[in-house]
Amino acid sequence: MPTTTKKRQRSCIGCGASQEKGTLWRVVRSKEDGVQFDPSGRVAGRGAYVCSTACFAQARKTRKLERALRCPVTEDDYERVAREIALAEAPGKIEE
Ligand SMILES: [Zn+2]
Repeated sequence: MPTTTKKRQRSCIGCGASQEKGTLWRVVRSKEDGVQFDPSGRVAGRGAYVCSTACFAQARKTRKLERALRCPVTEDDYERVAREIALAEAPGKIEE
């Protein structure tokens, strides 16, 4: 018997492109830790997806992250998450 094989599509909050979950970076609003980058995609909480740091920057500009997560996102949150996504995209490229 065929089961439902359609994969869940998620859309990037920056550019709106729809992709399979797993090819997008997830940002989650976790109950304990607030707004976090979630490389595993497994953190419980409301999530938002972006395909790149550029799209995250776009979502920051347009305040789409707040809307997607339904909570205020501070400048610190943006800085931290942007940095973590950048590191995940290009490990070792960012040095302090
Ligand atoms: Zn995007």
